[in-house]
Amino acid sequence: MSDEIENVLIIGTGCAGLTAAIYTARANLNPLVLEGDLPGGQLTQTSEVENFPGFPEGVDGFMLMDNLRKQASRFGTRFKQSMIESVDFSSSPYTVRSSSEEFKAKSVIISTGASPRLLGIPGEKEMFGGKGVTTCATCDGAFYRDMEVVVVGGGDTACEEALFLTRFCSKITLIHRRDELRASKIMADRTVGHEKIETVWNSVVEEILSDDTGNVAGVRVKDVKTQETRQIDCKGVFVAIGHIPNTGPFSEVIATDNNGYFKPDNGSQVKTSIPGVYVSGDCADHVYRQAITAAGMGCQAAIEAERYLADSE
Ligand code: NAP
Repeated sequence: MSDEIENVLIIGTGCAGLTAAIYTARANLNPLVLEGDLPGGQLTQTSEVENFPGFPEGVDGFMLMDNLRKQASRFGTRFKQSMIESVDFSSSPYTVRSSSEEFKAKSVIISTGASPRLLGIPGEKEMFGGKGVTTCATCDGAFYRDMEVVVVGGGDTACEEALFLTRFCSKITLIHRRDELRASKIMADRTVGHEKIETVWNSVVEEILSDDTGNVAGVRVKDVKTQETRQIDCKGVFVAIGHIPNTGPFSEVIATDNNGYFKPDNGSQVKTSIPGVYVSGDCADHVYRQAITAAGMGCQAAIEAERYLADSE
């Protein structure tokens, strides 16, 4: 255990956490950033990012995150590998604990992100990120221009992904395990009524199939009513069965919604009910979930932390 009391402790190294680090480091707050088991966050799993402003030719997701990290380091950000398991925010300085360490800080920015829920079927992991399996149509849809793709899921995200993909793809097959979408009626109606979208009901994807170059060639689907299986050819598989926000260690002390996402407070996107404790990025945002919106929230949280520390001096 260190006796040091940090000005700002940032948990997470995705777009939100690293942006918060850049801002607080430039404000001479000497932030300490705790890095979990996916350094750089979800973007490191994507190949090319074409919609982050400032990169007219697109940018490799891993490189973008590496650049953010270098930018944060340049102003003195310190990094430490540590998976946080519990917190004590009952009094300041706040305490944050991993299995082996304890950190104390005057302010804390939680940017732990959300992990896309995956199907856990053969082929999924092998072809994830660049070989045809993805969880983000906004990020990767444009790579599937004039191609046939599959979207798995029946919620608002699956419908949104399928509708977004109609801009590029020649055909979208939406595969859902039941005979009714979970999505809101308006999204469901738009999706089912779209001429480019075919819905396959009561069906589960059992395997993602590859061609001889190791890229997606199709999916093997089972009808759960008849038990019949068949192959649907496609070049891309968009898994849209929800996200799991990484809020577990904090959910006893910071309000979360029914899906586990942080519910920011005080009319702000990033403030919580605890003074000096902020949330930013996908752990607090199930609506936009973009790299740029996460970065924006990281910036807001950093500015709030800066003001809070100045006011408490
Ligand atoms: P969700 O509502 O939890 O839906 C997940 C979907 O995936 C469900 O249809 C579920 O099937 C299916 N599913 C889950 N696990 C599966 C598995 N292992 N195999 C096959 N299918 C599986 O998640 P979401 O669509 O990401 O939405 C999350 C929240 O964000 C919701 O509150 C949603 O309304 C909100 N959201 C809002 C917007 C918007 O307002 N524009 C956009 C996106 C999301 P079942 O239906 O059978 O359970």
